[in-house]
Amino acid sequence: MGFAKQVSGTMPSVQNYDAIIVGAGFSGLYMLHRLRGLGMSARVYERGSGVGGTWYWNRYPGARCDVESVQYSYSFSDALQQEWQWTERYAGQAEILRYANHVADRFDLRRDIALNTNVISAEFDEADNRWTVTLEGGKRVTAQHLVMAVGCLSNARMPDIPGLASFRGKVFHTGEWPHEGVDFTGLRVGVVGTGSSAIQSIPVIADEAKHVTVFQRTPNYSIPARNYPLSEDEKRAWAENYREFRRRAREEMRNGIVSEIPQKGALEESDDAREATYDFRWARGGLTFMTAYNNLALDKAANDTAADFVRRKIGETVKDPAVAKLLQPTTYPIGTKRICIDTDYFETFNRDNVTLVDIRNAPISEITPNGIVTGGKEYACDAIVFATGFDAMTGSFARIDIRGRDGLTLREKWEEGPKTYLGLMVAGFPNMFLVTGPGSPSVLSNMIVSIEQHVDWISDCLAYQRERDVACIEATQGAEDGWVAHVNEVAHNTLYPQANSWYMGANILGKPRVFLPYIGGIPAYRAICNEVAANGYRGFALTRQHRVAAAE
Ligand code: NAP
Repeated sequence: MGFAKQVSGTMPSVQNYDAIIVGAGFSGLYMLHRLRGLGMSARVYERGSGVGGTWYWNRYPGARCDVESVQYSYSFSDALQQEWQWTERYAGQAEILRYANHVADRFDLRRDIALNTNVISAEFDEADNRWTVTLEGGKRVTAQHLVMAVGCLSNARMPDIPGLASFRGKVFHTGEWPHEGVDFTGLRVGVVGTGSSAIQSIPVIADEAKHVTVFQRTPNYSIPARNYPLSEDEKRAWAENYREFRRRAREEMRNGIVSEIPQKGALEESDDAREATYDFRWARGGLTFMTAYNNLALDKAANDTAADFVRRKIGETVKDPAVAKLLQPTTYPIGTKRICIDTDYFETFNRDNVTLVDIRNAPISEITPNGIVTGGKEYACDAIVFATGFDAMTGSFARIDIRGRDGLTLREKWEEGPKTYLGLMVAGFPNMFLVTGPGSPSVLSNMIVSIEQHVDWISDCLAYQRERDVACIEATQGAEDGWVAHVNEVAHNTLYPQANSWYMGANILGKPRVFLPYIGGIPAYRAICNEVAANGYRGFALTRQHRVAAAE
């Protein structure tokens, strides 16, 4: 390990690194920082023209984090967390992107990041235990370790609707929003989808556009964000107590977000007390609505109390009872699809310039030059916004041709659903690490907490290997099988599989229905990872370096 080396001969020179990192989002940035700290040479390849990952791509109107900004930030550097000042309870996309750029500059990361660089393929060479990575344009680089920091929601998905190419107006996807922004003034805008991205963007677009028509297939539960500018006192309280808050997020909170730990089940309280609890959480706003009780994800009757409460709130907010009814979710338990956090979403349907179109029983059949057709009726649009989500968790891997032992591709290996050990490695793909991969808490948690845990674990693992001259580390098939079974078992003890969600891969036609993230909670998961490491990386096969006498 050491500095990047050039190997040249008759072939064009190939750059060699200790590690190649794919992606310069929050995972890739921190991974690079840690590898530098180990004295390793590393190169990051990023397809975007800037760092920031999710926050680089998702620039749609109203894009904002649903985890509070003081909690959605790195903890690895106290100097960083002391000097960075968040301005709002939930940071907007632009502020989070500024933060990512600040981190890149502050830790001098840019010199090892290649932007505008698509990774096309990665192939493991069994003879020398190295990965060869091919970039768009044909350049090849090699590394002993490959770290896939590609993000969980990075493969924006445009539905395949007949006639889309014929549409005369402009077409946008929330997950790949134009950098220069979009002016909807005077336009009739069609929004397809009612997930988190739509719920955040619809109120903002409706403020600007002449008319907004929302095409809804499945309504979503959404809780008010109650965003506000952070006061100096709040900022100080966090700054003075970061160490303890971060410890609690890591060690005590299932989802990595510090809040009260629920002690009771929903049905252990009287109806009045429960109503008061939900009222308090609704008024406070945010994701912690779902941690009011300890059994909302486990017990359907308990879950119904929360779902009924939210449906009632929607009914009280939306003036037209027919529209309110359409907006009230009834087909899945609350929280089993990612809960949404909004600002004036349901209120927006009281505006004269907003129409809700229910497409549950009449899918969009066609897009014409003038608009969107459903149920035999054409809705005229000047612009269409697809807020139709992502090929979650596996989509970003699938677009790279990754080949492990015996030429096996990751696409083949994951044909029936992703299989990993701890969401960190894949049997048959030695020396390749995933950051927040399928089978880890990832999207069910505060992503930054999970990212830091993974990057720290990977860094410690690489340091361990270096100390022992390990050339190759690989998840064993048995350990992977055991982990896949455990991930499924834990998921099926909850209500989550009852929803057709992207957690289950259900939003992609033909994608296997497998519960993608690990639902056991961050503290339990963290303990397992630590215990695996403490036991000499149990479940991993480690091969020592072949010592070859140096040729003179
Ligand atoms: P999403 O949750 O997958 O929602 C996609 C929406 O598009 C759904 O309403 C879906 O309907 C609809 N849809 C998909 N294909 C369709 C089609 N062919 N015709 C009609 N409707 C279609 O995607 P998202 O809103 O982008 O959010 C994805 C995830 O990103 C979130 O769950 C969250 O984890 C994250 N996110 C976070 C924030 C935040 O931090 N505040 C903001 C945005 C996103 P069905 O439900 O019927 O499939």
